[in-house]
Formats: sequence, C-alpha cells, structure tokens
Amino acid sequence: MKQLFIFSTIIILGFLSGGCKKKKEEEKQPFVLFSIEDDKQLGLQVKQEIESDPIQYPILPERGNEEAYRYLRALTQEILDKGNLTYRNEFAWEVKIIKNDNVLNAFCTPGGYIYVYTGLIKYLDKADDLAGVMGHEIAHADRRHSMRQIQNQYGIQIISSILLGNNPTLLEQLTAQIAGTLTGLSFSRDHEREADMFSVRYLSNTQYACNGAASFFEKLLLEEQAGRIPEFLSTHPSPENRVQAINAKADEIRCSKIPSNTLSSYQRFKSLL
Ligand SMILES: [Zn+2]
Repeated sequence: MKQLFIFSTIIILGFLSGGCKKKKEEEKQPFVLFSIEDDKQLGLQVKQEIESDPIQYPILPERGNEEAYRYLRALTQEILDKGNLTYRNEFAWEVKIIKNDNVLNAFCTPGGYIYVYTGLIKYLDKADDLAGVMGHEIAHADRRHSMRQIQNQYGIQIISSILLGNNPTLLEQLTAQIAGTLTGLSFSRDHEREADMFSVRYLSNTQYACNGAASFFEKLLLEEQAGRIPEFLSTHPSPENRVQAINAKADEIRCSKIPSNTLSSYQRFKSLL
C-alpha cells in the first residue's frame, strides 16, 4: 500500500467573503448511499489489512507503551466527547501509533480507526497541534469522506446496483480494491477543506487552541523558507491558504486560539516514543 500524507492539497477561494454560505454547506448532511454499517465493515477490513502488515505498518505495541497510549487516547477522547460528532457512538474510534520517525503523517479509515506516526508526534511542538491533526482525521471519518469519494468515483448507478445485491462479484472486487488502497486514498480539496473546518469546530469546546491544525502548516512553511522543502510541500501547494482559512474559521466561530497549558506533558509524551 502506498503511503500518503494527510492534509493533502487544498485551495480555498472566497472563504473569507463567503463565510455564511460555507457554514451552511458544512452543516448539510451529505448524501451517501452506503449505510453506516458499510463504513464500519470497510474500516474493519482496512484495519485488519494494516495490522497484518507489520513491515509497512509497525504498530507500537501496547505492552510497555501504556503511558504513551494513555496520553494519546485521552487527548483524542476529549475531542470525541466535546466535538459534537454525528457518529460518536456508532464508530469504533480506535487509536494506534505507528513506529516510524520518518513519516509525518496520520490517517483514519472509515468507521474511525485512527493511525498516527511517531514521526508526526515528534515533529509537532505542542498538544494543541496534535489535537488539530486528530480533529482533522476524525472529521474524515465522521463526515464519511471515503464513502463519498467512492460514490463519486464509481457513480451512483453502480453503487446502487451493488447495494441492491444485483452485482455481488463487483461488490467483492470493489471492497478488495478499496481496502487495498484506502490508506493511499487522497481526499479531494473540498474534503480536505471540510476536515480543516471541522477540526476547528471539534476543538472549540476542548482545552486545546481551536486552530491547532494551522500550526502544522505554519511549521512546514518555515521549513520551506529555510530551504528544506518537505516532500509534502513539493506535491501539495498552498498550505498558506489553509492556515488562513483555519484561522478565519476560528475567528468566525469565536473559539480560543490560546494554546493549552500542556507543554510539559506533551514533551513527556514525546520522550516516551
Ligand atoms: Zn486530510
């Protein structure tokens, strides 16, 4: 399976001038033919595939890493509990750490199986930044982006015939293909933007700065200015726009951009990995 970098390309046009309109679009429940059970089943399949491939996905063992897992899960739990999610109780919302210090990434399957690389955790400076990324990943699952993308890719007619049971072989093929490529699936610009915006909303009732997701991009921009262009930026332009849009959303909903008082516990967390 191909590695992918989260926070793929996004370009925001007219967000600042069209704030109200965007808000309504975001609040609309998307039209998805798949059932919630499909999200859960597909997510479980992908999880099994990931966890049966320890070379590509070396999962940090639970044993001996209890404190690190406790930290990450408590951070995630706060976002899930206070974020006003649609599928808080339906999806699994499992969190695992992948031990690879070279990958600045995290991803989330449908149905809420979240994977975070040690490389990303160590790269970030504070819990607020990580909370921002977790919020973004949670949004991909809760807003059902993968399912919507599959629907767009295959078309409503094909999906309908599969769901009606008219085409069992195609369903099998489709499921296998999706499970095989899901962690490499890149989301559309609209879905990336939507995940950024929902990250701000989810964090707005937590102790974390609601614009935490912006810090990751700001840090990447500094690297770029220093002449160290991360692969990420060479293939995904315009993080500036995402920083602006995230901060504009925070201003619009008037949530706190003040970092939480958690610096030393985040340092401790990093030192455990
Ligand atoms: Zn994303």
